[in-house]
This record gives sequence, C-alpha cells and structure tokens, in this order.
Amino acid sequence: MVVKPDDGPLCTCGKRGCVESLASGDAIGSRARERLTSDVTTPSSLREFAPDQLTGKAVGEAAVAGDALAQEVVTEAARWLGLGIAGVANVLDPDVVVVGGGVPEMGVPFMRPLEEAFRAYATPSVAKDTRLAPAQLGYDAGVIGAAAAAFVALGVLGPALNQEDVSDGGS
Ligand SMILES: [Zn+2]
Repeated sequence: MVVKPDDGPLCTCGKRGCVESLASGDAIGSRARERLTSDVTTPSSLREFAPDQLTGKAVGEAAVAGDALAQEVVTEAARWLGLGIAGVANVLDPDVVVVGGGVPEMGVPFMRPLEEAFRAYATPSVAKDTRLAPAQLGYDAGVIGAAAAAFVALGVLGPALNQEDVSDGGS
C-alpha cells in the first residue's frame, strides 16, 4: 500500500513509499542508518552498531531503552503505518485491527504513535469505534495461523476460534 509516493523509499516490490518500505523492521533499520549518517552530532547508542547490525530489532530495543534518535525513527515508522491502517479502516470499518509481526513487539514506543496517527487519519466514527491491538501470538502469528489452517484443512483440528473467543481477544 503506497502512502508516500513521491519521495518514499524504494520498496522490494518496485514501487516507492509502500508502508512496507517505511514501517517494516528492515525499513526501520535503513532509516536509522540514514539518520546516523546525515546527523553526526546527535548522541545515540545506535552509533555503537556496525551498519549491517543496525536492524529494526536493535533500533526497537534502543527506543525502548530511551534512545531519542531511535524513538524518532520508530515514531516516524509507526505514523506511516497508522496512516496506512486508517486508509483501510476508513473503507472497511472493522471492529479491531490486529497488528502483527516483530515490530509491534517493542510495545509503547511503536504502538503509541501508531495509535495517535491512526486516530488522526481515521474518519471520526472509525477513530471512535475501531480498536488497534498487537497480535497476541506476536512475530509467530502468521506461521501459527498457516499451520492451524493446514490442520483444519486436513481435519486434524476443528475451527480454531468461536465468536466468544474472538470477542475475548482470542488466545
Ligand atoms: Zn512495495
């Protein structure tokens, strides 16, 4: 989903400014490398990393630990994702948007600006009624979901969740 078409980073899909190119773990690592190169004066614990070790996870951990530059990079990424989610939610009006993958696992430094951007860009009714929630299965949610779908297709498992489980937030 393109959210920054004119001067966004080149995405692996060939387009510019996809959410993936702005808010994924790899994007956060790249953006931190750019910031550290273009701004050589702001102190940051990230300067201790070799460029190839400056991953999204490392930036996330620095943000959680209070590193201001890391927090700026994470906030920027979260805002782009919030804009993308608001665009989808404005059309689909879901009750809940579950945010999975490794990046949301850093918690507040990512989820708070994500939530703020989502509320800012969503229509008033969506901003009021749609909830954002981190995936309870975290980074492995996709793999576990794929395995569960295979087991259901093979008849090994019944449907994974009933409606009550979903409204409880699942497990
Ligand atoms: Zn793309």
